[in-house]
Amino acid sequence: MQGITEFWNTLVESFNDYVIFPIKSIGIVDVIDIALLACLLYMIFKFIRDRHVGRIMLGLGAIVLIYILSDVFNMIAIGSILKNFYVVGIMVVCVIFQPELRAVLEEVGSTSLNLRKIKNRKDGANSEMLGMVEEISAAAFELSARGDGALIVIERSSRLRSQMTEGVALDAKVSRQLLSNIFFNKSPLHDGAVIIRDMKIVAASSKSKSISESDDAQMRRLGTRHRAALRITEISDAIVVVVSEETGNISIVNNKILNRGYQDIGKNGKHKSNDLRDDLYKLMTGNSVNEDVYLSVNVDKAVAGDDKIDIVNAEGIDIDDSMEKEDTDSV
Ligand code: ATP
Ligand code: MG
Repeated sequence: MQGITEFWNTLVESFNDYVIFPIKSIGIVDVIDIALLACLLYMIFKFIRDRHVGRIMLGLGAIVLIYILSDVFNMIAIGSILKNFYVVGIMVVCVIFQPELRAVLEEVGSTSLNLRKIKNRKDGANSEMLGMVEEISAAAFELSARGDGALIVIERSSRLRSQMTEGVALDAKVSRQLLSNIFFNKSPLHDGAVIIRDMKIVAASSKSKSISESDDAQMRRLGTRHRAALRITEISDAIVVVVSEETGNISIVNNKILNRGYQDIGKNGKHKSNDLRDDLYKLMTGNSVNEDVYLSVNVDKAVAGDDKIDIVNAEGIDIDDSMEKEDTDSV
């Protein structure tokens, strides 16, 4: 019986020493310390996941493991070689990952600023966004019909700086005419990508410094324009619209996924440009067009069999007078 009591007392003492005491002594500095460590681990995880450097990390992990084992089992030859590697290893990692590390630091620096900007501009920004995606969609269809290729990068929270060549700097409102002009195949700016930042065209003829090496079935047949688009979404959260010069295909590339088929012809023989516009709007704002826009359906017209409906935004400005009647099903 005494043995059980002694055991119990020891248990309670150990619990106090190793659990209660450390918890009581946690201060605000420790909480901040843990939070910062969690952020750092999250950033490392995101870095490995987003930049596809898993294999390189695995290689480095294997070298560290061999080094530890050589130390434990006293393997002098391999241990001394790896000891030297360890010294220069950090520098090697910095050199190998220089572009990625730079991109991560740029992202960290720009995210908080972007969030504030987005918050300040939220009111009224959605109708501006709708106008912008409308222009991009119209330009994409015009280019596709004309047989010109295009690469339109719409930045979201992360900035694409070191990963793209500078191209030609612009500061222009997004319009279908300007996009159509830039990607006209005789235009000096048609080669490369247009970059849209904060609803403005900030660069044209900018090239992605690397292209995706994805060899999944869908990508195997695609050339450098589509691979550059995919790469851009591998290293950032941008949304990319690609128009294929060869096939006229229009695609949205988002989060390493390429969605094709926006140039499909609708039932009545008309292009479904509204699908492209609506999907871009949804990706940019998280809401569907119908949730955000006040729809005014002219019932008289519909009853009379006129297949056009008027869609106006909150300010009563007509945003699309060409939407087909079939689209009213989804209203
Ligand atoms: P398409 O379907 O239009 O032929 P694709 O995916 O087959 O496109 P290519 O035929 O190789 O690709 O397209 C070449 C064009 O892609 C170039 O003229 C250039 O405008 C663009 N391009 C190629 N590499 C890049 C890059 N790294 N960044 C941006 N644009 C690029
Ligand atoms: Mg091609």
